[in-house]
Amino acid sequence: MATYEPVIGFEVHTELSTATKIFCGCDITYGAPPNTQVCPICLGMPGVLPVLNRQAIEYTIRTAIALNCEITERTVFDRKNYYYPDLPKNYQISQNYASLGLNGYVDLDVNGTTKRVRINNVHLEEDAGKLIHPDIPGADYSLVDLNRAGTALIEIVSEPDIDNADEALAYMQTLKNLLEYIEVSDCKMQEGRLRFEVNISVREVGTKTLGTKVEIKNLNSMKTALKCIEYETRRQSDALNRGEKIIQETRLWDEAVGATRAMRSKEDAHDYRYFPDPDLVEVHITPEWREEVRAHLPELQDAKRRRFVEEYGLPEYDARVLTSAKKTATYYEHAVAAHKNPKSLSNWMMTEVLRELNARDVEADEFPLKSEGLASIVRMIDEGKISGKIAKDVFAKAVETGRAPEEIVQSEGLLQVSDTGEIEKFVDEAIAENPDMVAKIQGGNAKTIQALVGQVMKKSRGKANPALVNELINRKLQS
Ligand SMILES: [Zn+2]
Repeated sequence: MATYEPVIGFEVHTELSTATKIFCGCDITYGAPPNTQVCPICLGMPGVLPVLNRQAIEYTIRTAIALNCEITERTVFDRKNYYYPDLPKNYQISQNYASLGLNGYVDLDVNGTTKRVRINNVHLEEDAGKLIHPDIPGADYSLVDLNRAGTALIEIVSEPDIDNADEALAYMQTLKNLLEYIEVSDCKMQEGRLRFEVNISVREVGTKTLGTKVEIKNLNSMKTALKCIEYETRRQSDALNRGEKIIQETRLWDEAVGATRAMRSKEDAHDYRYFPDPDLVEVHITPEWREEVRAHLPELQDAKRRRFVEEYGLPEYDARVLTSAKKTATYYEHAVAAHKNPKSLSNWMMTEVLRELNARDVEADEFPLKSEGLASIVRMIDEGKISGKIAKDVFAKAVETGRAPEEIVQSEGLLQVSDTGEIEKFVDEAIAENPDMVAKIQGGNAKTIQALVGQVMKKSRGKANPALVNELINRKLQS
């Protein structure tokens, strides 16, 4: 039996964060009632004329520059002809002959080594609407929601340079991060704003000839894409080992079964009969326009990391972790703006916040505790209002309930006790109850004092001011 290895390429679709659709003025806000964000243009009514959204072109240029592509100076839009009920014009406006960006690359950090993946092209097109298949037994109809139809969409097509699942994951994460950093898309995968399509073939280890590839469409999460890669590598290897041929086809991932299944084969499929859209003029991207877009690129990851070190005095390690995702970096910067203790906030981010984000599988902008809330927790510690231990409890409660940290501290009476009289009572009790500790301290064992402080903190349920407790113990044992 021969051993096979996968050869993987990606087509990544991202909906752009333009205010309106690509050829009309319709809103693209997610979650509106079905078919309320439509007009004669995106409904494909006869006689209407599309008008190109300039922002969509600029976002595509931005993406192409960030992916080290050559920018095509004269670009056109083509009609890709197909009938599908979620795009009522019967064609999709896309770029087939003159993609906006060509021949780029992206460098991935894969377990400490750099891997370069070539980008074949970056092009701009319109998204389709959504078909909804009712989950009713015996239902013999489907519904269509055209709110999404006509949303500006870029497609990033890679060369088949990816050799394994680790590289595939690094590729997806790096692209998502880059698209967020250059602020062309919010990349919310649960809203379908970032979607992956995997091309995969296998070849015998040690050979260079590419095998027949299979495309798996419409993958809405990185996890699913990785499952597809694993499944297809095995399916194709097994088939070849049985002496079968791989059929070039499009497959779908069936989550319930945990397998891909054939959707349509390429042999009987589609001649899309592309031709330039006669309703749209050629777009001329002058060198001046291109350079203007380049000059206004938002701050990228490396620059942000260096700035975090300089501006906030953070260690390189902290800066790297905090800038690993744009949304995390933004959350952190808002917190520092609300309370100027960059290092302490960084510590909270790198431990408590990132742990909770991972556990909940959400990103920083969806975290129930907002950056101002985190800032207020650190502020209360810095002002001596709560101890570090209480702060952890307040954090957990705030994340769990969405309540404001100050309000939790107030309503649950968690303010640190700095009233000497009240603490003195706990200190006296602790001294009376722990004669052995007292003997050790008086015998010169300075470390034991921390254990006694701990006893007092316990009695105060974490609310005593530790510095004051320390001072009182010292004073009492010396006298
Ligand atoms: Zn419209």
